[in-house]
Amino acid sequence: MSARILDGRAVASRLWRDLSDRVADLRERSGAAPRLAIVRFDDRGPSAVYAGSVARAARSVGVEPHEVTPPSGVSLTDLAGRIGALNRDPSVAGIVIAQPLPAHLDPSTVVALIDPAKDVDGATPLNAGRIARGERTFVPATALAVMAILRNYEVQIAGRRAVVVGRSAVVGRPVAALLVAADATVVICHRRTRNLAREVRRAEILVVAAGSPGLVRAEMVNRSAVVIDCGINTTPDGIVGDVDFGSVRPVVAAITPVPGGVGPVTTMMLLEQTVDAAERQAAEFEPALDRYALPAASESIRPPAAR
Ligand code: NAD
Repeated sequence: MSARILDGRAVASRLWRDLSDRVADLRERSGAAPRLAIVRFDDRGPSAVYAGSVARAARSVGVEPHEVTPPSGVSLTDLAGRIGALNRDPSVAGIVIAQPLPAHLDPSTVVALIDPAKDVDGATPLNAGRIARGERTFVPATALAVMAILRNYEVQIAGRRAVVVGRSAVVGRPVAALLVAADATVVICHRRTRNLAREVRRAEILVVAAGSPGLVRAEMVNRSAVVIDCGINTTPDGIVGDVDFGSVRPVVAAITPVPGGVGPVTTMMLLEQTVDAAERQAAEFEPALDRYALPAASESIRPPAAR
């Protein structure tokens, strides 16, 4: 029997409907669309392609993309000024920095400039620390997409053995932390893992984020495994994942395709966290009148009680 296909496009379209409703509510209450600032450093390269696809998806749910394009030779000081202005701008709900950055800029220094409250792709060191501690915060969108797919298909996580292949800061590490927070027992594999096949075979939930096409093959997996493939690899045969889909699909319980699995859900997670940020910022906005006026609307306004 062939595996159940975990359809990322179907999950994304359900999320799209919910998000569009939430954005419509926000617009009604505040009179303006939430804005997502997308900082990108090239016009035609991968940074621009990513920015373009995020901007299109944002517009489709009613979030207004605000593309910021510093010159590719921008100094760190100049960039800090530009990101600082976005941090202070109350109309900007979230900020994302499209990778890759120009070679002279250190990615971790640059992402650390984002206000953690607007870090809707969970890129800042503060948010990474919170994720590692199992605290609620913004999470890298791909890691959250893995959890959203598992949740949408009601895959049991608590108590199960999960194996994550890959330990990058954007995918492997945060996915492992989220699985631990959801009570899985987690093993993280990487390039120096001695016997990858032996580890992978024990997985009941297998998440692969290695950037290596066809790394996981049929003889390495468990029949009861739920397989989530985060890989996006461009090959002469087109875009493929890290799992050899053709051979693995017939021997596991469930699997995400590539394309059409984690990718479409990732974009929705970025937008969902942008809408979360906008809602939180709207709720935190407390006009002085509300702060000092008495709760009963009919009473006349008296001076605030001494604190
Ligand atoms: P990365 O290169 O930063 O990290 C890859 C990790 O995989 C490393 O920790 C490495 O140790 C491990 N690895 C590589 N080859 C291995 C092997 N043979 N055996 C065991 N471990 C191995 O990559 P990344 O940024 O984490 O991305 C991983 C994949 O996920 C890429 O294909 C990337 O395109 C894709 N990706 C997808 C999305 C999405 O939205 N779906 C987002 C980000 C990245």
